[in-house]
Amino acid sequence: MNEQLEALLRQIIHPETEQNIVDSGFVDRADMGEDGSVAITLRFQKARDPFAQKVKRQVEELMAKSYPDNKVMVIIREAAPKPRRQENVTTTTEITRVIAVASGKGGVGKSTVTANLAVALRQRGYNVGILDADIYGPSQNKMFGCEGYIPDAERDEEGHDFIIPCQSLGIKIMSIGFFIKPTDALMWRGGMAVNALHQLIHQTRWGKLDYLLVDLPPGTGDIHLSIINELKISGAVIVSTPQQVAVADVVRGVEMFRYPQVNIPVLGVVENMAWFTPEELPNNRYYLFGKGGAARYAQEIGVDVLGEVPIIQSIMEGSDEGRPAGGYDPRVEEYYAAIAAKVVEKLPAEC
Ligand code: ADP
Repeated sequence: MNEQLEALLRQIIHPETEQNIVDSGFVDRADMGEDGSVAITLRFQKARDPFAQKVKRQVEELMAKSYPDNKVMVIIREAAPKPRRQENVTTTTEITRVIAVASGKGGVGKSTVTANLAVALRQRGYNVGILDADIYGPSQNKMFGCEGYIPDAERDEEGHDFIIPCQSLGIKIMSIGFFIKPTDALMWRGGMAVNALHQLIHQTRWGKLDYLLVDLPPGTGDIHLSIINELKISGAVIVSTPQQVAVADVVRGVEMFRYPQVNIPVLGVVENMAWFTPEELPNNRYYLFGKGGAARYAQEIGVDVLGEVPIIQSIMEGSDEGRPAGGYDPRVEEYYAAIAAKVVEKLPAEC
């Protein structure tokens, strides 16, 4: 692409994306011949799209004004716009450890474990961030009282855009939930989500972090692969309930990280909702979903049990109220302090 033309075309803002047409990917080619003739090809899904026609007219007018004596040709090619990525620019360079938190199925407490583990690591004095990549049910925004937070964007002197994360309990939180409504979920499955996550990973102002926890969508899929490709993940934590622990979804989750091309160490399994203790019978444990399943399974496949967390009312209430219980309920704090200690032992922040 001709640099002079590119610079000129950047002046034109697409009415829908509100970004210049070069970065938002609507310019396919922009060339200048030896005789000074200008040839510009725009990319639009549909040539008859009113925006396409409007942008085409703007480009023609701008070129006619800038090169009044040259021949100018602007055509539209019917193709999906290709937004430019800010290649080689990433805000992840000061992150020491990235930990993926995964589960076979939804509803087992993966997000709750991510949030409370983040709090426990913060309590040990580490700088911690969370990337909520669960496009099917982003919940970190709610768990940390960041609902309704609208991330600000900042531009540096070189024209790179950055996104400012929400800060809660000293933890930096960036959630795909800041950008989608629950009713949008369907449309986000696939390419759009991958693109958006790419931006969240590389443009969030993470600053210096000892640990970045990534709350993955349940199961295995494209989102997992793209995150594995984009972030250097140091280890994975698998969350499961006792009755889910040996089912195929969890097994597949572990296998995904162990796949030779992926090769991410599985730090261990957190068995969540392991038992229930009623307030009035503090010494009784009711194993509602079976006992010892995680330990057996973990031994079978050669991974550690990082910890067991019982069903505790404050854990659920804390998530609903926007402050993880690990930050104020000493019982919960104790369970998560032990899990955090194991994680730190396996993946020291200083590396
Ligand atoms: P996932 O991320 O796996 O879909 P969530 O973390 O959203 O699951 O948890 C599902 C529900 O279970 C939430 O309402 C959460 O508050 C609750 N929950 C998770 N773990 C516990 C626990 N140990 N004790 C009580 N409630 C829990």
